[in-house]
Parts: sequence; C-alpha cells; structure tokens
Amino acid sequence: MIQKKVCLLGGFAVGKTSLVSRFVRSIFSDKYLTTVGVKIDKKLMAVDGHDVTLVLWDLYGQDEFQSIQETQLRGTAAYLLVVDGTRPATLETAHDLQQRTERIVGTVPFMVVLNKSDLAAEWRLDDSAVATSFARSAGVVRASAKTGDGVEAAFVTLTRAMLAR
Ligand code: GDP
Ligand code: MG
Repeated sequence: MIQKKVCLLGGFAVGKTSLVSRFVRSIFSDKYLTTVGVKIDKKLMAVDGHDVTLVLWDLYGQDEFQSIQETQLRGTAAYLLVVDGTRPATLETAHDLQQRTERIVGTVPFMVVLNKSDLAAEWRLDDSAVATSFARSAGVVRASAKTGDGVEAAFVTLTRAMLAR
C-alpha cells in the first residue's frame, strides 16, 4: 500500500479546511472555524490502477509562514497551494509559501488550487497569468469547496504527478 503525505498550504481563510472536508467527507460548511495546530485526514485514492492513501495535513494557516513549522512539512510528497480567487493578496501568500516550502522539501510536485470558483462575479484573478507564474506546478485549477467543482480533479492530478516521480 502506497501512502503519501500531502500538505495543504495557503493564506488565511482561502479554504484549505473546506477543501479537505469536501474531498474526504463530501461536506461543506459556511462557518469559519480556525484550524488550530495540524489536522490530519486520510483518503484512499485509486488512480491509474494504483491504490494510494493520501495523508492530508491541513496546516494551521495564518498568512505568516512562521506559524507553519519546518517539522510539519518534513516528508511531504506533494502539496496543494490554495488561493482564494476573490482575494489577489492570497496569491502573493501562495508564491511566498511555495518558495519557502521548496527550500525545505525540495522540488516535489504541487498543485495550485484557485478556490471559491462559485463566486464568479467576485473573481479577481487572471487564471492564465497565475499558471505562467507557477510554471513548475503540476497544474493550476479552479475549484470550489462549496459546490465540489474541481476538487476531486485537483487531488487526482496531484496524485498522478506523485506517482510519475
Ligand atoms: P482555511 O483557513 O484556509 O482553512 O479556510 P476555511 O476552509 O476555513 O474557509 C474559510 C471560509 O471560506 C469559510 O467561511 C468557508 O465556508 C469559506 N469557503 C471555503 N471554500 C469556499 C468556496 O469554495 N466557496 C465559497 N463561497 N466559500 C468558501
Ligand atoms: Mg483551516
């Protein structure tokens, strides 16, 4: 059985916890509950004939990287960088987190998830510019933890990128 550690990284309230609960439990809540410390969930995936258990580390996400400990990132096989499509400032946070994370874990695969795609009228990102700015990512995808749109696809693409290594 293959088991892979995957960290969820991103600024404050971008939807890291919501994406995990959508993906693992198929639920969404409008309530904002601050994640304290680290929450770990597991999800069994079947991708391209491989069974892979994703061990999802939902890291406590203030905008300050200092709140994420180096020890929490250690052993990460891949990570999801979550951006709130209605808040461009969270893109800067994601860039910062990506660089700092790469310094610690090396060039492991990562996906950029532009979350809250259900809020189309409030969208403030140029998706293709984002993709260009994360040239080494395994993909940049729109998703919504609220509707579920794109969520499974993001994890499947990331899992595929890990298996390809
Ligand atoms: P975290 O701090 O990154 O873990 O963010 P949360 O998952 O706690 O989400 C922060 C807030 O954004 C909560 O009020 C969620 O209900 C809301 N939220 C998360 N994902 C979505 C989404 O896809 N669409 C919308 N409309 N709201 C979302
Ligand atoms: Mg959270």
